Amino acid sequence: MYSKIVEIYEQIEATTKRLEMTDLLVRLIKETPKEDIDRIVYLTAGILYPDFMGIELGVAEKLGIKAIAEVSGKPDHLVEEDYKRTGDLGITAEKFSSGKRQATLITEALTVKKIYETFDRISRATGPGSIDQKVRLLCGLLTNASGKESKYVIRTAVGQLRLGVADMTILDALAVAYGGGKEAREAFERAYNLSSDLGYVAKAAALGGLREIEKFEIAVGRPIRPMLAERLSDAKEILEKLGGTAALEYKYDGLRIQAHITANKTTLFSRRLENITSQFPDAARYMSDSLRVKNAILEGECVAVDPNTDEMLPFQAISQRRGRKHDIQEKTEEVPISLFMFDLLFLNSMDYTNHPYPERRQALAKVVRETERVKISRQTVVDNYEELDKYMAQAISDGCEGIMVKSLGADSVYKAGARGFHWIKYKREYKSEMTDTADLVAVGAFAGRGKRAGSFGALLLSSYNDKDDVFETVCKCGSGFTDDDLKKLPEALEPHRVSHKHARVKSKMIADVWFAPSFVLEVIGAEITLSPIHTCQENVIRQRSGLAIRFPRFTGNYRTDKAPEDANTSLEILEMYKAQLKKIDTQAQNV
Ligand code: ATP
Repeated sequence: MYSKIVEIYEQIEATTKRLEMTDLLVRLIKETPKEDIDRIVYLTAGILYPDFMGIELGVAEKLGIKAIAEVSGKPDHLVEEDYKRTGDLGITAEKFSSGKRQATLITEALTVKKIYETFDRISRATGPGSIDQKVRLLCGLLTNASGKESKYVIRTAVGQLRLGVADMTILDALAVAYGGGKEAREAFERAYNLSSDLGYVAKAAALGGLREIEKFEIAVGRPIRPMLAERLSDAKEILEKLGGTAALEYKYDGLRIQAHITANKTTLFSRRLENITSQFPDAARYMSDSLRVKNAILEGECVAVDPNTDEMLPFQAISQRRGRKHDIQEKTEEVPISLFMFDLLFLNSMDYTNHPYPERRQALAKVVRETERVKISRQTVVDNYEELDKYMAQAISDGCEGIMVKSLGADSVYKAGARGFHWIKYKREYKSEMTDTADLVAVGAFAGRGKRAGSFGALLLSSYNDKDDVFETVCKCGSGFTDDDLKKLPEALEPHRVSHKHARVKSKMIADVWFAPSFVLEVIGAEITLSPIHTCQENVIRQRSGLAIRFPRFTGNYRTDKAPEDANTSLEILEMYKAQLKKIDTQAQNV
């Protein structure tokens, strides 16, 4: 009976002690018939289904007010005014319940099943007429509810249960009620971390006890709570923490995706375990194209890339694709993505979460067939911190936000739902901005695709090395050009076009078309970084690395007033880089 549940809810609401709350939950669980336990657990957590199913009860307050008014026979505005005073629609419902219009009619006692099923119907009502239908269903419950029951029916409906029971408290209570005591808590938490579904865990425990929980298994389609990293900011300390040797992976600046693959479908979950498959149809397709598996769970980072240069874009770009319900196809073209896979958790009925990281990585490499859009995260193994710092600089120059340092130890298992030192994030702490613009010379261009077909996707730009009289590349710039710019550029550059790389150009990149150094334009970037692919001041700061402008953008200024030799020199770019480092140092000292 719902009335018994409500009685315990009242006591939970009244208590100020965490332990007492757990005891009350234990009582609630023990008094609940086994067939109802999943429903009770969901309702107590204020949900109907695990979050990853994306089914929300979500009755708007206005509808709640309407239902209370209708059942009590009072006008809407009176209910609304009372709600303004109480600030809790549940309490308002309780108050108005005493004057119920149909109080004299025969009422049927509310069962948990009835409550749950009605809420379920409310959550699924869509389309025309659904508002009326929701109000009607809610009225049906309120008509048969006592004052206290009305309070919780309405609170649940509008998503403000106010019990403050956390998932972890429910797990504590389940361990005591079904697992024999607190000692069983770890097993329950593990089951929850592997399934992200409290109701499912509760049902398994109700039917099979601790034994069932201990043999809990991963199921493809049910998201696993993600393993999280600790953060440290000193390379030496990081390596020491991991025993002197560790794997370094690029830390891509995008959205974490957990992909569940079966023979006929790919489901994608976010870091918060929402099902985001429909928001990223391209990611699902790329994944199916690349993976040679029929039953697996993998994790990776989904990063936005520049449609013309394929260079990685910072997080802000991918965030435009998040939470979208409309124009999804359009956005997939506007903000294309690449996937960088970094872990494998399950493969062909084998749970890999218990395997150490090197084994998971090996298995990952076997199942991912790299394509243009799907790659395995870049990785190297180091045993000294200079190498670690070097790799960090390289990751940043390649558009990442730092590196993830991962333990190679025998205990480096995938700890679902836990934050720990098996993964350490090492991020660039202090970002400094490039405050000056740079005047650079176009020495090459890359053909445009999609909307830019027929024009350039990006220009290869260089600074001038006045000592050697060569032009050294410093970035590939595809941003900041208007449609008008794109139309004019091929024409404007045509007079400077040459059939191969110009003799005065030093470039490791291979452009689609080359130009004699002549055309100068103004660019601003996010910062200057070390880069293995650009030739500006190569080998000066570090062997086989040059300097690059990260996230360059055309300012709109064509410097037709400048000869190429008047462009910024490579030495000036080096000065900008050094000034930036100084700024980082000062910022660090000020922290
Ligand atoms: P956290 O996830 O630790 O709570 P957060 O959401 O702010 O913090 P970050 O601090 O940026 O995220 O770092 C962790 C995230 O880095 C991961 O959740 C994942 O999305 C991302 N990431 C990028 N590259 C990798 C990689 N190679 N291995 C693991 N995670 C990576």
